[in-house]
Amino acid sequence: MKTHVRCGTLFSAGDLEGRPGQTLVHDEHGILEFVGPTGQAPKVVPGEPVLDYSRQFVMPGLIDVHTHLAYGNAKSEEDIDLYSPLEFRALRGLFFAQKMLAAGYTALCSPGDAGQVSLSIRNAIRAGLFDGPRVTAAGPYITARQSLTDWYPSWIGVPSTSIGRLVRSRDEAIEEIRVQAKNGVDCVKIALDGIQRRPDGSLIAAFTEEETAVMVREIRRLGRKAVVHAIGREATLYAARAGVDLIFHAYDLDDECIDAMLEGGSAIAPTLTFHLNTLEFTQPHEPAAVKGRVEYERRTYERSCRNLAKAHKAGVPMMAGTDSGFAVTPYGEWHARELEIFVNDLGFTPAEALIAATRTNARFLADSERVGRLEPGRCADYIAVDGSPLENISILLDKSRIHAVHLSGRRMALPARDYDPREVTDASLTNWSNVYTQARVAELRRDKPLRRAAE
Ligand SMILES: [Zn+2]
Repeated sequence: MKTHVRCGTLFSAGDLEGRPGQTLVHDEHGILEFVGPTGQAPKVVPGEPVLDYSRQFVMPGLIDVHTHLAYGNAKSEEDIDLYSPLEFRALRGLFFAQKMLAAGYTALCSPGDAGQVSLSIRNAIRAGLFDGPRVTAAGPYITARQSLTDWYPSWIGVPSTSIGRLVRSRDEAIEEIRVQAKNGVDCVKIALDGIQRRPDGSLIAAFTEEETAVMVREIRRLGRKAVVHAIGREATLYAARAGVDLIFHAYDLDDECIDAMLEGGSAIAPTLTFHLNTLEFTQPHEPAAVKGRVEYERRTYERSCRNLAKAHKAGVPMMAGTDSGFAVTPYGEWHARELEIFVNDLGFTPAEALIAATRTNARFLADSERVGRLEPGRCADYIAVDGSPLENISILLDKSRIHAVHLSGRRMALPARDYDPREVTDASLTNWSNVYTQARVAELRRDKPLRRAAE
């Protein structure tokens, strides 16, 4: 049996246009058979359902290529790595994946998680055990002693529950890639930014150019996609020259990086939402502010927008992701903020931003042939929105305007369940953000008389 969907305006992501008076028709498996003007659509046979979204804006389900399902709205790196058992992280991740789906995100990539958390969430949804978005999953980040995710002192090492998997040699890197491929990852993530800086402030990559190329070759040989975390110019250049599929951040790119990306076919997912949220939402008393992180993010943001706008203009494909999963980027809340940033700060039109979050993002997904645009042969993954994001991209952030979410044609009915965040991710060991010397206490007392804790 066919289902007919009447659309007020349809943005199919086949091009940049939103068209009035269109209809989608899909079969009982949720595969689209017709997309076009209602006048030319197949006639409704008595008994076939007709869905009326004639007052809504219908578009492909949104995609976020950078959401860490296992992080649990973490407040710190320790939160990400240490306090919750992997089993709990998987259950929690499934819950949060549903929050994303309710916000209009029908697919996501979870690039880098401990153990097999994202893989398990992907498989449980795929098997039909739970409703949830389509998940493209990675395993732990491939990490060197110089990498981002090896953040504990050398005498602690990288715990087994960490999001990084430490490799101490080229052979160990190859072995880890093979293990991950055997476990069924869709993509392999390399933590390519290092922790050392040159006197001019530039970041030294965590792996050499040759090591990067060797790893990417093996990832590709095993039929997986390669993705890297690279903010620094050197890491970005190594990644682009190795032809990785997707580079996260790339904030310090230069013309040489852009040329290498255009030649090797790398896309960028800037993931600026995390930085903008950090600099706008962090409260003055919070450690991130006290430690100077907010100022750092402000400088990063401004520099990044300049560089990324150049890359966009040069024709490097841009994908939309948010780094959701931190306390500052909770699931289901800010995914569309990246599109607002694309429009406000990177020179995209709203239509181009919608293309980034649908058609372009889909290129990186495991389901790339089936999602990302509404055309015959693809899945009927779509959302119906109250209002037009072509006129105001920010309406996608308003959950009350996400009128309906359909996955393979089926309307998702997800409970708007509240939860207790303290039971989910609130295990940080940080109790104080100040050192209470007599001088500091006297200072505080001047502002406001202190009460004894017992009172
Ligand atoms: Zn990330």
